[in-house]
Amino acid sequence: MHSKKKTKMKTSILNSLAVGLLAVSPQLMADDFAWNTMLNLTSDYGNRFAGSDEERKAASWLKGEFEQLGYKVNTHEFEFNLRKKPLTSLNLEAFKQGKINKTIIIGAHYDSIGHNAGSTGFTDNASGIATLLAVAKAFQNITPHYSVKFIAFGAEEVGLNGSKAYVKTINPADIHGMINLDTVAGGDHLYIHSAHSKPYHCGGENSKYSHDTWLRDALLNKSKNIKLARGYDLHPKTPEYPEGETGAWSDHSPFSCLGIPIAYVEATNFSIDGESGKDGYSQTSHPDYWTCFDNSNMASCDRKKEKHWGKIWHTQFDQATQLIPRLESHIKLQVQSNVTLLTRFLSEPK
Ligand SMILES: [Zn+2]
Repeated sequence: MHSKKKTKMKTSILNSLAVGLLAVSPQLMADDFAWNTMLNLTSDYGNRFAGSDEERKAASWLKGEFEQLGYKVNTHEFEFNLRKKPLTSLNLEAFKQGKINKTIIIGAHYDSIGHNAGSTGFTDNASGIATLLAVAKAFQNITPHYSVKFIAFGAEEVGLNGSKAYVKTINPADIHGMINLDTVAGGDHLYIHSAHSKPYHCGGENSKYSHDTWLRDALLNKSKNIKLARGYDLHPKTPEYPEGETGAWSDHSPFSCLGIPIAYVEATNFSIDGESGKDGYSQTSHPDYWTCFDNSNMASCDRKKEKHWGKIWHTQFDQATQLIPRLESHIKLQVQSNVTLLTRFLSEPK
């Protein structure tokens, strides 16, 4: 995109942000940090394709953000293949010592996909990165109960490469659980998933596989006991997914394969009968994201003519200029809830 045009777009985003803030509560304003992180990451690094120079620039920006919050950042470079071409990317790791040594990993991928279609990865996954940084910010001067590893994964969208590389560097016995943040705003409902009770394909060997639900259940429990702008649910049972259980499509799955209990926070809608069934890939019933949506069946009016399928991720809809007019306060309240829930849970798990 031409740089002049880019500046103009950024100004209009900031203007609409300012107008929006006048109308919202002081509590929401306290969460400017996460929202601004989403705006900054996606306007300055709108293309974060796995293995690209742009992805690497986003990583150095992110490293700087953690450092500004007072964290020391470890950088793990890794190699992966994309269509047989060898590429490299980075994982970033920041650590906060807790009152106890039991360690929880919170991870979010920072790469994006769909730039050619217009996506800047605003919800997928600037929302996860913003939540990650905002929780790190909350623990700048406070000691959490658990020790916390904050991980930003590279190259998720083309094969979970960052998380697959990362798990090779850890001893699973050191990790009490892993919380995956992938697209934690934008979709209709905030869910917390566990791994599927049927083991994922773990590269031939899945004898260590865990679908332990303790972390999912503890987070859900916590969410019911504190005041949050948005609540959390288990997704409903569908033909392929038992209630609250999810597929292998994001950075939690290499951890499940290693025997680490996971919880996966995701904003989507498992009640919609989407392009590939009730699998959570259709994020919203909002009519603007469908050619035609039939509310009574929670499905497209005409599957043959449907073009959008309620998908924000990886499409032209996943950018600030598209989302702010429709879902600004929805996204802000979801991100705010995520930050509050995770901060409270890591401070006082019960
Ligand atoms: Zn994602």
